[in-house]
Amino acid sequence: MLNIQQNISLKTFNTFGIDVKAAQLTICSNKEDLVDYLSDIKKLPKPLLILGGGSNILFTKNFEGTIIYPRIKGMEVIKEDEASIWLKVGAGEEWDDLVDYCVRNDWYGLENLSYIPGNVGASPVQNIGAYGVEAQDCIEIVNGVMLENAGSFTFTKDQCQFGYRQSIFKKELKAKTVITSVIFKLSKQPAFTLNYGHIKEAIEATGDITLKNIRNTIIDIRKSKLPEPEEMGNAGSFFKNPVIDQEVFKHLLEDHPNAPHYPVDADHVKVPAGWLIETAGWKGKTLGPAGVHHQQALVLVNHGEASGLDILKLANRIIVDIRAQFDITLEPEVNVI
Ligand SMILES: Cc1cc2nc3c(=O)[nH]c(=O)nc-3n(C[C@H](O)[C@H](O)[C@H](O)COP(=O)(O)OP(=O)(O)OC[C@H]3O[C@@H](n4cnc5c(N)ncnc54)[C@H](O)[C@@H]3O)c2cc1C
Repeated sequence: MLNIQQNISLKTFNTFGIDVKAAQLTICSNKEDLVDYLSDIKKLPKPLLILGGGSNILFTKNFEGTIIYPRIKGMEVIKEDEASIWLKVGAGEEWDDLVDYCVRNDWYGLENLSYIPGNVGASPVQNIGAYGVEAQDCIEIVNGVMLENAGSFTFTKDQCQFGYRQSIFKKELKAKTVITSVIFKLSKQPAFTLNYGHIKEAIEATGDITLKNIRNTIIDIRKSKLPEPEEMGNAGSFFKNPVIDQEVFKHLLEDHPNAPHYPVDADHVKVPAGWLIETAGWKGKTLGPAGVHHQQALVLVNHGEASGLDILKLANRIIVDIRAQFDITLEPEVNVI
């Protein structure tokens, strides 16, 4: 079914709570109607934008084109053997409902990604990740439709070109596809990833290491560290953790011998963007109605009636300052529209 609305406010469609309007918003609840709709693409107001839960988007102005909101539902086991199950999930399912469903069925793999906002269809786009696990660890297939000709595609994991907060859907296929469903391969045998930070100790403190305890612990940690978008508009981490070369890292160590870092390869290390922003003195700072969260410097927040441009202005100030202080250039993780 299609539900087409014109001149509609997007305030409740993005977790920053930015009040802009879209010329057209089309909610599609099945793939067949989506294909029909896209077959007539010439008639649609342009540009086109695919929207999920709006938890990784910053709207900076009214959107003059068509927003397509895939609300395709369903979670179905399509194959299983002794060790694994293959679960096909509609793009419009909430990500955390999927994680909850897997945990309740004793399927291992996604539990560390508990409580990430957004929809399943967006999970391959930036290859969501948390606590040492990424969506790509469980994704087998991504299905969807090409915007230009309404043709269906099926990509294997390799074809998705996953990387750190990266995939083909953010590179050559950026804004060119609608993902309609994702097939995940989950393990029936216990297989945990607990080597990230102090997560193992935190889970052990709750009792045994079980799927349920991992999920609950991660939810508790996230709730204690990150603002709830309903209470304070935000899109999670605003910037990616920069990957820098050894030369720049050497300079950083001269002034900050204890700078946290993770090796990437022989020539590069990753530095937490949140640490850079906090060290530069931005934690808790505000610029008009936009601010840096007081507990988590990587999260930019809407303190009330911020516009997208207010948030962007703050982000740009931070980028300039971090470059001046550390010779490191931050890049937004959030999609700025
Ligand atoms: C409080 C908070 C915490 C967060 N924590 C994390 C975290 O730990 N790890 C992490 O990786 N992210 C995190 N995020 C970011 C966000 O949750 C993820 O990026 C999520 O996958 C976005 O999903 P969405 O449905 O809201 O996508 P949207 O924000 O609606 O869209 C994001 C991008 O994907 C595209 N897109 C969306 N759906 C589709 C589709 N069906 N087909 C094609 N393209 C599509 C959009 O065009 C856009 O480019 C957090 C966000 C918040 C607010």
